[in-house]
Amino acid sequence: MSKYDYDLFVIGAGSGGVRSARLAAQLGKRVAVAEESKPGGTCVVRGCVPKKFMVYGAEFGNAIKSAQKYGWSVGDVSFDWAALRDSIQTEVARLSGIYSNVLEKNGATLYSERAEFVDDHTVRLTTSGKEVTAETILIAVGGRPWMPPIKGAEHAIMSDDAFLLDKLPESILIIGGGYIASEFAGIFAGMGVKTVQAYRGDQLLKGFDDDVRSVAGTHQKLLGIDTRFNISPTEIKKTTGGYIVTFDDGSKIGTDLVFMATGRKAHTAGLGLDKAGVDMSKSGAVVVDEFSRSSVKHIYAVGDVTDRVNLTPVAIREGAAFVDTVYNDRPTAYDHNEIASAVFTIPPIGVVGLNETEARAVYGDDMEVYTTSFKPMKNALAEKEQRCYMKLITEGKTERVVGIHIVGDDSPEIIQALGICVKAGLTKADFDRTCAVHPTLAEEIVTLKARAS
Ligand code: NDP
Repeated sequence: MSKYDYDLFVIGAGSGGVRSARLAAQLGKRVAVAEESKPGGTCVVRGCVPKKFMVYGAEFGNAIKSAQKYGWSVGDVSFDWAALRDSIQTEVARLSGIYSNVLEKNGATLYSERAEFVDDHTVRLTTSGKEVTAETILIAVGGRPWMPPIKGAEHAIMSDDAFLLDKLPESILIIGGGYIASEFAGIFAGMGVKTVQAYRGDQLLKGFDDDVRSVAGTHQKLLGIDTRFNISPTEIKKTTGGYIVTFDDGSKIGTDLVFMATGRKAHTAGLGLDKAGVDMSKSGAVVVDEFSRSSVKHIYAVGDVTDRVNLTPVAIREGAAFVDTVYNDRPTAYDHNEIASAVFTIPPIGVVGLNETEARAVYGDDMEVYTTSFKPMKNALAEKEQRCYMKLITEGKTERVVGIHIVGDDSPEIIQALGICVKAGLTKADFDRTCAVHPTLAEEIVTLKARAS
């Protein structure tokens, strides 16, 4: 008989926590999970899922405009923010319920309250005050939006708030050039809000391929987003009708709503990691090895709280690898290379593998770059300026494909399949001997020509 209340205690019922808890419970382990908010975590409750619904909502506006070129006569149309917000929240509640059921059905205990470490084997549930012990503890508390502490920062909303607005503003100023800023700029502009996106760099989406960044910037402008570069906010002042934001170059922008999308940080504040002896990085992330093990041998961490690759499917894979390592006697280090991902701008971006700068750093001149830019069929008839951009990067004599970057409709769907090709180590010749599916946007990937140097 174990001296602990549970074999495994998971803190956080998000993607990584629930997957780990379910798999361990299915192996007959005595598992408990604590969640201070709704089960489902950032992805389901205040991230990927409601965001994607909002993107769908925003895209209808453009589709209605294009419909006329396709022969539809469109009468008066209007957009009802509250209707969209509420139907999204209903779906979020349904999905969150599924997460609770998964735990319950597999015999895991869910504590709907916050848990904090008392020592390396004990957590306190902060609402009931109950203390429980576990042989192994998994930290899966995710991240939280972060904003710089400028004067008046309390007037700004962050991504968590954007899903629950009482009403849609007439204008919005979004600060940041990353995933969340760029996606929400597309969402608000698509819903008819006068949108300014202000970024401290000179191209959106730092870390992405430079050409992709440039095309993404063009698309934001085509959507009507007023993009401003090389400025950083220093102060937000409330006025009678809205806010005035001052920037470090002295410029000011007036707006109805300020949205700070300036990054996320591991949600470890107040978790008591010091009491358990768990090491953290400077930014507060839990430091782990390749098996997701922290500095304490029976405490593990998966997902955004470790600040490795902060994506839902990665947290899920890390959770499964944790269970294999600890309970299946199969030490598994999840491979963080060649993870396909998408940015849900309008149109979206799909990428896998190395960008051109990264490839150049690894392969020097022993690489080739293939590109194309074209107006997709659908946009030709709709008379939309938006173009599709593709880049494929190969290395060495065998021309193994090491990176693919697509900006265009359905690119997240396309890149999922192309991710398999890159992971499998396919070559340009494999792409070339694959017959096209016509007429599609994706067919261009099997007919790419080397970029003229
Ligand atoms: P990002 O790190 O992508 O972007 C943060 C932005 O804020 C950057 O443009 C950054 O500038 C800017 N910034 C940071 N500090 C300041 C400051 N003090 N003043 C002004 N600007 C500042 O974070 P997000 O919050 O957008 O997203 C967090 C993570 O969540 C992503 O990295 C991703 O892993 C995940 N995510 C994934 C999505 C997807 O898969 N589709 C969607 C949303 C989030 P700079 O670039 O110069 O550093």
